[in-house]
Formats: sequence, C-alpha cells, structure tokens
Amino acid sequence: MLQIDDQGMLVSAHVRSKRFSQIERQPMLEVRGIVVHQTGAGSAISSFNSYGNANANGAHFLIDKDGLIYQTASVYRRTNHVGALQARCLVEYTCKPAEFKKSDAFPQQSAVDRMHAIEVLKSVPARYPSNADSIGIEIVGKPSLPPGKVAPKDATPKQKEIYFNNNAVYEPVNTAQNMSLRWLVAELIQTLKVSEKEVFRHPVVSRKNPTEASTASW
Ligand SMILES: [Zn+2]
Repeated sequence: MLQIDDQGMLVSAHVRSKRFSQIERQPMLEVRGIVVHQTGAGSAISSFNSYGNANANGAHFLIDKDGLIYQTASVYRRTNHVGALQARCLVEYTCKPAEFKKSDAFPQQSAVDRMHAIEVLKSVPARYPSNADSIGIEIVGKPSLPPGKVAPKDATPKQKEIYFNNNAVYEPVNTAQNMSLRWLVAELIQTLKVSEKEVFRHPVVSRKNPTEASTASW
C-alpha cells in the first residue's frame, strides 16, 4: 500500500512524478476501476510532447520502454482516456429488455453514442469503469500495419486512417513493462481500494483496435 500526497501523487521510489495539468479534468471523487492502454507512439517523449498542449488527453500513468513508471496526472483528477463505453451487459449476457428500449430516448445520436449515454446512467460493476471513475495506465507502444497490409492506393486520407485503425497491430508489451504494470496495478488496487475484477484492457471497455494492450499482463 502506497502513500498518496495531498496533490494526488504517489509517494514511491518506483514512480517518477511528471505531472501535466493540461491532461487533468474535474475532480475524481471515487475510483472504481483501472484501464490499461498503449500510447500509440514509439517513445515516452512523444507522448509527453502531446500532453503539454492545452486541453490534451492522456492518462494518469505512463510506463516507458525500460519499465520506468511516470505519474502524469493526479489520481484525484479525471483524465480523458476511455471514450464511449461499450455495453457491459451485452458482453456479460445480463442485459434486460428494458435496456434496449432506453435506446429510443436518444434518437438523434449514433449507435455508439447512444450505447454510451445508456451506460453512464449505471454504476460500476453494472457498467465498465469510465473517465469519471477510473485510473488510466498508458504503456509506450505503437501500432503498425503487418507486412502485406496496405490501404488501397485511391483511398482518401480519412479512408486510409480507418484502414490503419482496423488493420494495425500494436507492438508487444515487453517484459520490463509488464513487470512494472503488475507492480503498479497491484499497488493501485490496494491503495485506492479497487476491485481486482475491475481492471480492463482499453478495447474491452470501448471501441478500440483489439490489439491495444492485448499482450499486457498483470
Ligand atoms: Zn487506449
């Protein structure tokens, strides 16, 4: 169990403080889960460069290629790291017919936004942890297209982006990163009193490339 200072920063020789107020949002009153990500970039520096921009998005922790853990935001603040939630009851086969009817209450929204709008009315564990109540851990790692996968030549930039997002594969999380992740998740579960059942890979809770953090273990 770790100590947390009054700014919401962990007090530990294993965690380097590198706080970016630009990625912090409103106070986070309770923590109900942990979401594990990969950054999409090949180095910590490139993520830090983007975190420094006004209103940037990021997560609370970042694990570098050599396993070094940075805390990039206060655990008392929300960060935007999850996005629109998937319906947990669909995955766990617990949806009730009334849940589907609720969808009619948001006719003007897309299916993804509607699903999210219904989910946020619930609380964990009936829904997945969200930006409102989860800690995000980023692991440095980028996706790339496997050999032979190339977007059609005449594709527009937007189509190329979609092709990339659908076909790219994230680089494997390395041993040093997984050892640090295991330590950090265990400490956060204890320190913040989070259920060990509420730790997820990003593509489980939201619509993301299914290979993101697929090789992470904790
Ligand atoms: Zn992610």
